[in-house]
Amino acid sequence: MRVRRFGAVIGAATALAMALTACGSDTESTQATTVVQKAKDSKKLVVGIKYDQPALGLKKPDGTFEGFDVDVAKYIAKELGVPESGITFKETVSANRESFLGGGQVDLVVATYSITDARKKQVTFAGPYYVAAQDTMVLADNDDIKTAQDLKGKRLCKAAGSNSFRRVTEGPPDGKLAISGVKLVDASSYSECVAKLKAGALDAVSTDDLILAGFANTQKGQFKVINNPISEEKYGVGIKKGDTETCEAVNKALTKMYQDGTAKTLLEKHFAGTGLQLKTTVPQFEGCA
Ligand code: GLU
Repeated sequence: MRVRRFGAVIGAATALAMALTACGSDTESTQATTVVQKAKDSKKLVVGIKYDQPALGLKKPDGTFEGFDVDVAKYIAKELGVPESGITFKETVSANRESFLGGGQVDLVVATYSITDARKKQVTFAGPYYVAAQDTMVLADNDDIKTAQDLKGKRLCKAAGSNSFRRVTEGPPDGKLAISGVKLVDASSYSECVAKLKAGALDAVSTDDLILAGFANTQKGQFKVINNPISEEKYGVGIKKGDTETCEAVNKALTKMYQDGTAKTLLEKHFAGTGLQLKTTVPQFEGCA
């Protein structure tokens, strides 16, 4: 009788210990503190991309996604242990990237996202995975904007949440030329900027050369990029502020992406024939701290 009761106590204790262990591991997988841990545990990632930028992040009519940023996101995901089927792409526009990362709506942002001083206060950036340059696009028959300085007095697109207009109208650190008298015309995105340029509602769109090349290439003969680069746009992978473990893992993936030739292949896949001088060596990383 006594033996049996002792056995029952041990049995109960074991069961309790097992339950606690199970509970512990459960908690870990549902409350992963870093994105890299979440990726490892769940084999899933939510990645913020643009939906409206040809050659970079584009949602096609059949619901699939294509572009350099999309492929970079897939490469990073794979290196973090997440197959393509485990990626959920979510639209991020320039204006919601910081809030989507901060609020956990997305795990990573791969969306022509320049690393800037102001953004570094809110976001941890891996990379850069590419260094673009800001250039200016006008209508093909425009003859009076030949350099960025010619934007004085002109109507320039201001895409909400984007840093590009600042490079023209403000000074460093996040601006560059500090040209006065530019008339900024609001738009919600670069696709809207390009539509307004085409419609004659503004004179120029100034932003990353990769973005301009993507639009110019899909609407051949409509536009002209003036080829007067004014800044270096370091494309970072946006990560929730403070998640350095994920930042380091992403940097490792990006290094591999350049070393195994994937970066070159992807850049050529999306930008061959645009006339852009593609940089195929691994960019200098900013560091995760
Ligand atoms: N790379 C620039 C930026 O992050 C322009 C493109 C964009 O807004 O996505 O502000």
